[in-house]
Amino acid sequence: MKSSIKKTEEDWKKILTKEQFYILRKKGTERPFTGKYWDNHQKGTYYCAGCGNPLFDSETKFDSGTGWPSFFAPIENSSIETKTDYSHGIIRTEASCSKCKGHLGHIFDDGPPPTNMRYCMNSDALKFKPKESS
Ligand SMILES: [Zn+2]
Repeated sequence: MKSSIKKTEEDWKKILTKEQFYILRKKGTERPFTGKYWDNHQKGTYYCAGCGNPLFDSETKFDSGTGWPSFFAPIENSSIETKTDYSHGIIRTEASCSKCKGHLGHIFDDGPPPTNMRYCMNSDALKFKPKESS
């Protein structure tokens, strides 16, 4: 078991921006095509905005046309927790950070090969670090 992070809502409010708090802690969704990463094509790593847990590599990012950053696989399956989400009258798979339990987005099974999965994430749940060019 990885150590999980326990913080109160008040603690999170202090360290997160309003947008990050809304998504990570309130399971919000940013409006498509408004986030900072849906159209990011730089090479690098995407970390959890709440706790810095490495979640996705830019190698697995693809243009889904949805307006949200989309990936076909996480860096490690254990870095993401999944749960069936019945909200809004539809059944979806919710993705959250395994370390801080922050809400990241949803997972769909209409992605590209090799996994055919689509990790539909919110930009504000992620923090991108570009790969240093050597
Ligand atoms: Zn996290």
